[in-house]
Amino acid sequence: MFVARILHPIKVLGPGDRVGIWFVGCKHGCIGCSNPELWEQLPKYNIDFATFKILIENIKKTKSIDGFTLTGGEPFLQPQVLRENFAILKIYI
Ligand code: SF4
Repeated sequence: MFVARILHPIKVLGPGDRVGIWFVGCKHGCIGCSNPELWEQLPKYNIDFATFKILIENIKKTKSIDGFTLTGGEPFLQPQVLRENFAILKIYI
């Protein structure tokens, strides 16, 4: 999966203290995009799900999580990752 940042707490992209996940990859090319550096799925952004899960678990150990905000980039460019991981993320909510 291609992820650039996982930040907590994010308070401006949904209610409560959220985990913001910036997915990498986008083909829309919107004028004025605030994250054009996340359009290309560069190898440096490629992490395996086990690492991703550990990062989320580490946040959960010390912080309360009110929800997840998936942003990017275009998160739906990685539909299989979302489908598989959403089921797991629900465990943490
Ligand atoms: S990251 Fe968002 S705003 Fe930027 S080009 Fe893609 S869809 Fe548009």
